[in-house]
Amino acid sequence: MRLRLAVHLLLVLAFFATDQSHASELALVGAKIYLSPTEPPIEDGSILMHSGHILSVGPSAEIKVPRGITVIDCAGLVVTAGFWNSHVHILLPGLLHAGKLSPEQISSQLQEMLTRWGFTTVFDIASVLQNTNLIRHRIERGEVKGPRILTVGEPFWVKAPIYVKSFLEANRVSIPEVKSTVEARERVRHQIHVGADGIKIFANSVERNGILTMPLDLAKVIVAEAHRAGKPVFAHVSNNQGIEVAIQSGVDILAHTTPMDTPWSPSFVQRMTAAHMALTPTLTLWDVEARKSHASPENIEQGMSKAAWQLQAFYQAGGQVLFGTDVGYIEQFDTSEEFKWMSRAGMSFQDILASLTTNPAQRFGYSTHSGLIAKGMDADLVVLRADPAQSTSAFSKIRYTIRNGEIIYAEK
Ligand SMILES: [Zn+2]
Repeated sequence: MRLRLAVHLLLVLAFFATDQSHASELALVGAKIYLSPTEPPIEDGSILMHSGHILSVGPSAEIKVPRGITVIDCAGLVVTAGFWNSHVHILLPGLLHAGKLSPEQISSQLQEMLTRWGFTTVFDIASVLQNTNLIRHRIERGEVKGPRILTVGEPFWVKAPIYVKSFLEANRVSIPEVKSTVEARERVRHQIHVGADGIKIFANSVERNGILTMPLDLAKVIVAEAHRAGKPVFAHVSNNQGIEVAIQSGVDILAHTTPMDTPWSPSFVQRMTAAHMALTPTLTLWDVEARKSHASPENIEQGMSKAAWQLQAFYQAGGQVLFGTDVGYIEQFDTSEEFKWMSRAGMSFQDILASLTTNPAQRFGYSTHSGLIAKGMDADLVVLRADPAQSTSAFSKIRYTIRNGEIIYAEK
């Protein structure tokens, strides 16, 4: 009896001993590593992680892997910093009313939509703030596996766009319409107070019989109030008049290109970049929408090319591109089409990598600890099955997604 107790105690102690000495330790060995979009890769490199951070990184010959920690052999694989998607929505029916969902249900929905595609940080730019807060608290507590989520909560619109009305009703979600500048200012303050990391305006709302544009004075009040609290403002736009409102009100991030309007002239693009605006291209969205409305293949190709030209004009003028797909509104989770169109817009794989890592980290104030691979940075990493230098489709071939030194997705 006494012996059994002693053995049991020993086992418990042994468990805690291993648990403590190697808690959250992980090593990636023998990978091609892109430390950042601008440095040459390490051809045979290793990374050690400890307590959610990168402990060391360098050529495999120089990195000594301690015994007993989890080692992933990365021969033939490629490692980059964890990806950001700067235009998503935590609005899928499978993520709403999260208080009633099990950790497994939320983890599997987040995996299918985000972590399976390498995203370790996302910016949700319209959802239900209380629900998104609940999901991210469950992730941060370790109960749910998911990315870091930044959110704007409920967007500010003069009228709810026609294409979201029935969705909101069917899912018992209500998002108020903005009635006055006084009320808008109050709501901006409130949302930031209860956890919003940014604010989103609908500079345009698509209605049954045309496109409504938000009055400039209203946009200005909302943007100014968000900036007073140091928060970025995103603008949904459906046409170039919406972009005009975004420029004049001081919006930080344009949430879409506008392929249904005229091409962006050099002077128009110049005004966007002079205003230090960033852009999430959301090119896949236009394909999804066109197919929904049964457009012909020729019309789809034409529309996609127009969107790609707008991205190209913005990119070549030095505008900051943030990878973003509108996933959660669209249900095409696969990112390969977006990378194909970003390449067609003339973006190099290094600049696409920047749009996934260093650009958003810089834009949203995370660059001291996120966006590249270096000692002391967050252990947020993506392991790819192929090299993006060969083809940008490699950015959608994910073997592992690692967040805070923990594997949150592993390809089966
Ligand atoms: Zn969106």
